[in-house]
Amino acid sequence: MKQKISIIGSTGSIGTQALEVIEALGNDRFEIYGLAAGGNTELLNKQIKKFRPKKVYASKNIESVDFKKVLSGEDGLEEIASDRENDIVLMAVSGRWGLKPTLAAIRNGIDIALANKETLVMAGDIVMGEAKANNVKILPVDSEHSAIHQCIKNLADVSKLIITASGGPFLNKSSYDMAHSDIKQVLNHPRWKMGRKITVDSATLMNKGLEVIEAHHLFDIDYNNIEVVIHPQSVVHSAVEYKDGSVIAQLGMPSMHIPIQYAITYPERFEGIESKSFSFTDIARLDFLKPDFDKFPCLKLALEVGRSGGSAPVVMNAANEEAVYAFLDGVIGYNDIYTVVEKICKDFGTISLNGIDDIFELDNEVRAKTKALLPGVEIV
Ligand code: MG
Repeated sequence: MKQKISIIGSTGSIGTQALEVIEALGNDRFEIYGLAAGGNTELLNKQIKKFRPKKVYASKNIESVDFKKVLSGEDGLEEIASDRENDIVLMAVSGRWGLKPTLAAIRNGIDIALANKETLVMAGDIVMGEAKANNVKILPVDSEHSAIHQCIKNLADVSKLIITASGGPFLNKSSYDMAHSDIKQVLNHPRWKMGRKITVDSATLMNKGLEVIEAHHLFDIDYNNIEVVIHPQSVVHSAVEYKDGSVIAQLGMPSMHIPIQYAITYPERFEGIESKSFSFTDIARLDFLKPDFDKFPCLKLALEVGRSGGSAPVVMNAANEEAVYAFLDGVIGYNDIYTVVEKICKDFGTISLNGIDDIFELDNEVRAKTKALLPGVEIV
């Protein structure tokens, strides 16, 4: 029987690759029930024509969408994600807007293929608690979490998660070069082609810090038992160590098609677009290094913030997003991203939160404070 899937963020990097995966799987595996996009209605229209969804959402330019009734606004996004017709929803939208629709879908018992980082970073305890209560699967799309998901059999026997990081474009650059790098250099990721925000986060290694926080929630593992290892070839996507000393790793050539496909077809496997035979001898060598916390202070900060828990990851995530967009807009320099985020984290400290509304209220407050700070940042 065909599975009904909705893709939230269908015109983004993960969304478009997911549609390629679904197309390659053939007509009898999935039915595209819903497509939700931002302002790229030209691409959305092409997707509507090709996949004939039953529901369509657009956050902007609704009048230019070729569909009879286009959903919009916060309620519209929740409606398309939580529609009980869905068997699975791919949450591929980036930013905080992924959180509420994900929770709404979980509460309606719909499995989630999760590519949205903010969902677990901002509200990991709430989201995982609701998933458990509603017997819903949270299937990770990110390559590292997909790898861990594939390597974990019995959680009780796991002693450590080993999360790999390519090291990004600045792995072998000096601190001087990093401080003086422009947007083009930051966006020049050596291994992965991704959206602009996550590519900046991959240069600062903030992305890896966010992934550690996600892994802590997804797999219910203490921060002391999660290790980050730099692995420039991006062939070992992550690994799990068991209490007997055995380590199981998941390997493959870097391609997001594979983890996307695994998340939506779990527990089945199919030949996919980029499934080709793997050769250890072609790769010849795999390197592993300890992360340099002095060169990548965002990673150190994120690990501390994760440990603090509660409101701390909400604050860091919001400040980081605002700082990254300010960098992309040319308002601040590369090093200022850390300076700004660290200052905001210190200013806010840890406060008590009661539910999703508190989280969003804090998120808004942090963004306003970060924006107010930005123009005054001394660019070094
Ligand atoms: Mg990743």
